[in-house]
Amino acid sequence: MGTTYSIRLADSPLDRGALRRLQGDVDAALAEVNRQMSTWDPGSEISRFNRAGANEPVAISPDFQLVVRRALEIAEATGGAFDPTVGALVNLWGFGPDGLRRAPPTPDQIAAARAVIGWRHLRLLPDGRLEKDIADLKLDLGAIAKGFGVDRVAALLRERGIENFLVEIGGETLGVGRNDQGEPWRVGVLKPDGSADLQGVARLTDGRAIATSGDYRNFYRDENGELRAHIVDPRTAAPVGHAVASVSVLADDCLTADALATALFVLGPEEGLPLFAAQFPGVEALFLLRRENGRFEEVATPGFAGAAGYAP
Ligand code: AMP
Ligand code: MG
Repeated sequence: MGTTYSIRLADSPLDRGALRRLQGDVDAALAEVNRQMSTWDPGSEISRFNRAGANEPVAISPDFQLVVRRALEIAEATGGAFDPTVGALVNLWGFGPDGLRRAPPTPDQIAAARAVIGWRHLRLLPDGRLEKDIADLKLDLGAIAKGFGVDRVAALLRERGIENFLVEIGGETLGVGRNDQGEPWRVGVLKPDGSADLQGVARLTDGRAIATSGDYRNFYRDENGELRAHIVDPRTAAPVGHAVASVSVLADDCLTADALATALFVLGPEEGLPLFAAQFPGVEALFLLRRENGRFEEVATPGFAGAAGYAP
């Protein structure tokens, strides 16, 4: 996944040997996610799917099926702001396997990439095989796979009888039980300015997850000095560029938090907030908007402060 992970156990019923085996099992579980869903591994199932032709169903593993099913649901629920087929655009703007670029793509290149994206071209067949009706469509689960990995590791820890832990992959985090002080796990929300300063602290109770998307970590400036970040708006075919600097989402599982953080970063608060009550019960979000003098304005769903005990 191109990032690091960490796990904190507040206490554990396991002895040293069992903990060492657990570490090996966690590594194996994450390697398995990569073997299925990493576009950076040419031998992965997703890479094989991306090379397949139109209307040539490809067999994929059950976990991969689950992630695709949820990705398609979230694409539909967000009006396509979340789109797991944006791979060609992400690559075109310099965040895919082809590497960085300084000059913005030409209108022709953008039109060509646009012609090969769209989640409605992707179909999960009843037998679990995956199919596309455009050969050049590229599936990209980069906005959801880390969250899935967190859920997968959390399930493994629970199976081993561990009841108080925090799991984090690349900043997407899930907390179960309590910390070693017997309190809810506390997770800092970074100020989205590239510093290590905190904007606030959220508390994770009831096994909830928090994920953050933004343009403050994975970005570059093109030759015109324009900020280019790695999340693209499938509707405009360009990197998202608005006042939103980051979105943190609280949900019952980390896959949902991860995908919705990306989707809400695309939508921004005006389009994003109205979706909540109807589409995503139990999900809360915090938008940090860039204002003058390096300050950030907080816009949140009514329950964010309560559910996350969030305090700036
Ligand atoms: P995240 O850091 O979870 O917000 O995911 C960002 C990654 O998701 C990018 O690096 C792309 O691989 C992919 N991506 C970019 N834009 C979108 C989008 N609109 N919908 C789904 N995935 C996206
Ligand atoms: Mg995400």
